[in-house]
Amino acid sequence: MAERRAVFLDRDGTLMEEVHYCNDPRRVRVFPGVAGALARFRHAGWLVVIVTNQSGLATGKISPAQYDAVHAELMRQLQGQVDAVYFCADHPQSPTPRRKPGSGMLLEAAAEHGIDLSRSWMIGDKDVDVACGRGAGCRTILVRTGYGAGMGDTGVDFVFDDVVAASDLILAGR
Ligand SMILES: [Mg+2]
Repeated sequence: MAERRAVFLDRDGTLMEEVHYCNDPRRVRVFPGVAGALARFRHAGWLVVIVTNQSGLATGKISPAQYDAVHAELMRQLQGQVDAVYFCADHPQSPTPRRKPGSGMLLEAAAEHGIDLSRSWMIGDKDVDVACGRGAGCRTILVRTGYGAGMGDTGVDFVFDDVVAASDLILAGR
């Protein structure tokens, strides 16, 4: 079976508003146009994979039930246009290679879904997202919708205002 291409996306500040340890589904606000962009990726044959650090699970700021409720609301607003979700609950002071900027979640996804990382993209709003993607051999895009608004040079391949603009580039096949 031919290996597939994936678009890996950070969650907070990339797909939805950054609200600092989101533990309430009422605070989930997916950015305009994002569900449509994900649907276009999938229609064009890309796997859509969310990769998110959720250290609030380790520090007690987010309970497992709260994470599940937020996740359910996120999936509702994204109209189910997601193939897989990887989250990392590591504590920031004892990270494994799964925690971004580590590339562990991307390597895990690649093994489980048969993904060609060199033909895949990582989109996020922080330098840790860029480092995670670069470490896995993906091309990288920084979006300005979250913390990305204030990011300096990170060695990123492209910078766009949001996921919708990023999707236009990827889907154009350049
Ligand atoms: Mg983020």
